[in-house]
Amino acid sequence: MTVTPTDLQTVGHWIAGAPDTAAERFGDVHDPATGQVARRVALASAADVDRAVRAAREAYAGWSSASLAKRTAVIFAYRELLAARLDDVARLITAEHGKTLDDARGEVQRGLEVVEFACGVAHLMKGEGSEQISTRVDSTSYRQPLGVVAGITPFNFPAMVPMWMYPLALACGNSFILKPSEKDPSAALLMAEMLAEAGLPAGVFSVVQGDKVAVDALLTHPEVDAVSFVGSTPVAKYIYETATAHGKRAQALGGAKNHALVLPDANLDVAADAIASAAFGSAGQRCMAISAVVTVGDGTAQALAAKVVERARALTVGPGADPQSEMGPLVTVEARDRVAGYVARGEEEGATVALDGRGLVVGGHEEGFFVGPTVLDDVTPDMSVYRDEIFGPLLVMLRAGSFDEGLDLINANPYGNGAAVFTSDGGAAREFRSRVTAGMVGINVPIPVPMAYYSFGGWKDSLFGDLHVHGREGVLFYTRGKVVTERWPKRAHGVDYGFPTQS
Ligand code: NAD
Repeated sequence: MTVTPTDLQTVGHWIAGAPDTAAERFGDVHDPATGQVARRVALASAADVDRAVRAAREAYAGWSSASLAKRTAVIFAYRELLAARLDDVARLITAEHGKTLDDARGEVQRGLEVVEFACGVAHLMKGEGSEQISTRVDSTSYRQPLGVVAGITPFNFPAMVPMWMYPLALACGNSFILKPSEKDPSAALLMAEMLAEAGLPAGVFSVVQGDKVAVDALLTHPEVDAVSFVGSTPVAKYIYETATAHGKRAQALGGAKNHALVLPDANLDVAADAIASAAFGSAGQRCMAISAVVTVGDGTAQALAAKVVERARALTVGPGADPQSEMGPLVTVEARDRVAGYVARGEEEGATVALDGRGLVVGGHEEGFFVGPTVLDDVTPDMSVYRDEIFGPLLVMLRAGSFDEGLDLINANPYGNGAAVFTSDGGAAREFRSRVTAGMVGINVPIPVPMAYYSFGGWKDSLFGDLHVHGREGVLFYTRGKVVTERWPKRAHGVDYGFPTQS
């Protein structure tokens, strides 16, 4: 049987508590391991977005006034469903994103931790109070929800990144509209179904699938109060500027070039293990992947490069669903070709190709979007492979003559998501921690992703806005403060049975 686009399963929206496949435009969803179109996704129009926003606004009144106990109970029930169906969500991710099943399970687990954090919302939303700020005057502060908030998310974590946002947004009493990546849209729908099963009232959580048309409709809709975004830097900047110009609260997390500084006193085997896993895990498509290593001293550079290449060469690349695979394909053919293009440009610009993953063919998956681990050595800061975010299994290695030179190089980079140092010198580690201009710092830890009860976010071109996601800052983002000042006259004593007169 030949498969025509209309035979393909359509991944639709979730609006007003029900599936909704209305669409005039559709996009292709690939299986990156085979290169074939596996599904099609509805691409929302501004009218579809408007339906979701109206349903969200209508549901907001009831949900925002539901007791904290009721909201917690729903989020807790969702936590149980998600934990029970973790593998189902992971399989959907692997099928559309391409990452290995183990990696996909890890992603859902990290999202689940934010759901668990959100179960403590009754404590998290507590205000403060002062009695007698003046004679018989008291003051109390409250945190209240914002209204309708939107989340626009990238392809690389189709479950975890939405869960950086909606568990807390919902627990705080907001309605939430998710616009997932059109490259891997299915996990969002399964999460919507489970939220409904957990007892979330219809309209409180919606999914609109789509592209820039849906995003622009959310950014300009007068009934959307706030926008959370995670994705590439140019789009993050556009989202932040457009949303704030339309009077919305916004936080927009952008791209990254995460560095590891390796000092001569580091245990190079430990550093090489950590760097290989951080550079090539999820085929380098993690916002916290290490994509640039700066070594101090030529001896460190040569020894470390040899160890990283040895580990990278031993990696098993294959389809994400195969338990033997340690690294899957890239998400699209364009992403694969982009990596190959950068390797060629790096070579032209003078880098040494220490390991070349171009042209890798996986038996039985000849059309899959595979690139093997790639290492470019002798890279300098002016090369495009260093300046640009490539977002693939391509590690660049640079050399510095001293700790200060290495740190200055890292701080001169426009991105500031994560940065790590590998050393056995506590003083150097402390100096790095204090002076590096990145939002998340690892000391002998390659991917320093904060736990759910801390906040995640970068500096410089890796974040537009003020507040990071989840943790305390997530609660602040999804609520606004109110301070109440009260004066009450002294309690009257006794009852006057006299006839009321003007005196
Ligand atoms: P992307 O910026 O292409 O897309 C992100 C979202 O924006 C998607 O939902 C997409 O549909 C939408 N979008 C794309 N182009 C748009 C446009 N012109 N106008 C309006 N909306 C648009 O990012 P991606 O390729 O899906 O994800 C990878 C990027 O995300 C990388 O740059 C990575 O570093 C970044 N990322 C950052 C973090 C972080 O925490 N800072 C986390 C994950 C991913």
